[in-house]
Amino acid sequence: MYNPYENFKKTVTDAATKMKMPENDYVTFLYPERELKVSFPIKMDNGKVRVFEGYRVHHSTLRGPAKGGFRYHQNVDEDEVRALAAWMTFKCAVAGIPYGGGKGGVTVDSSGLSKNELEKLTRKFTEAILPIVGPYKDIPAPDVNTSGEVMGWFMDEYSRLVGVNSPAVVTGKPIQIGGSLGRVEATGRGVMIVTRELYKKLGKDIKDAKVVVQGFGNVGGNAARLLHDLGAKIIAVSDINGGYYDENGLNIKHFDKGTKITNAELLELDCDILIPAALENQINECNAAKIKAKYIVEGANGPTTVEADKILESRGIVVIPDILANCGGVVCSYFEWVQNLANYYWTETEVNTKLGEIMCRAFEEVYAMHLAQKTSLRTAAYMTALKRLVDTRKVRGV
Ligand code: NAD
Repeated sequence: MYNPYENFKKTVTDAATKMKMPENDYVTFLYPERELKVSFPIKMDNGKVRVFEGYRVHHSTLRGPAKGGFRYHQNVDEDEVRALAAWMTFKCAVAGIPYGGGKGGVTVDSSGLSKNELEKLTRKFTEAILPIVGPYKDIPAPDVNTSGEVMGWFMDEYSRLVGVNSPAVVTGKPIQIGGSLGRVEATGRGVMIVTRELYKKLGKDIKDAKVVVQGFGNVGGNAARLLHDLGAKIIAVSDINGGYYDENGLNIKHFDKGTKITNAELLELDCDILIPAALENQINECNAAKIKAKYIVEGANGPTTVEADKILESRGIVVIPDILANCGGVVCSYFEWVQNLANYYWTETEVNTKLGEIMCRAFEEVYAMHLAQKTSLRTAAYMTALKRLVDTRKVRGV
């Protein structure tokens, strides 16, 4: 059965082995540092008490406070949160920002909750994980089904519980309470930047690219819009209910012209660039051989399984891995946190310029590793991150 944390361990071990790194150097990173499982009651609108379960995992705080989002989804469990936390450690290391990795979630189908119930759920979850979060300990952020509004409630509840106004405890907040300009579209912007940079490296023109996006949410929607602005043709997009396809390019503001397709069909469309930006385990052993894209840019975390990765590599399909492709969100979260701590706010142009610098630097480092080690971009990204983590470990001591 698919286990994302096992996926993570295989990827790290593979990268370390290819680097001929001694096990002593990387074994720590195969274990999460701290895990908290919580349960808490909510009185629902109909008067019934329901108990919800949630998690917060710190995979590593070696390079700084744990950083990573929390999600509301019916599939949230220990293994998923553990894997998502571990990917954050490697993502922050690839980006070269001073954070470790963490992640959280509540097992809930939030689409069935009223706004009042969602706010209560967020406030109770904040209280439940209070012992391990804080501006210098662990800084959550949005993820699947958790918006800026949810971050606002989290910040408000945390501040109330500790008695100090604490905007730096969470990122992805509304602008009015210390959110950063540019944060909402930062992950999608990062996806656009690495795609553009790959095309430059390959001497190709992005205007010739036919792009397919799975998951038209925060990441996928913004990536599609920004790539469309660069002149790429967005030929298909989807959400949980299915997608639209037009081989001549969709009008991504309203999809009245496209043909309806399923998510399974969308992944197998003939295109140049496929951007999975929904959930894990979308490209797997069952469909990897049928993927027709030449390049895959992982907007989502963990959309490709280890088995699928091998099939894609053998077929010459280039994958920009999640820990590089979608790190724009956490980079901008870092900017938000810095602005909160300094209580000094930047313009959107400053934010986007600094984001572009970090994304391009991270892309260049991973690309250079990929050429030097003659390996996939995924392994190269893990090698880049591992090297940074191990160097930090050595300086700090075991
Ligand atoms: P979101 O909730 O805004 O959007 C998710 C989208 O995926 C929605 O359009 C939803 O309808 C669609 N979807 C859900 N289940 C699906 C399914 N089974 N098939 C097809 N589509 C489906 O979430 P998001 O913030 O855009 O996150 C998407 C992915 O990107 C997640 O893997 C998340 O961990 C990752 N990510 C998000 C950020 C961020 O800043 N938001 C940063 C890095 C990585």
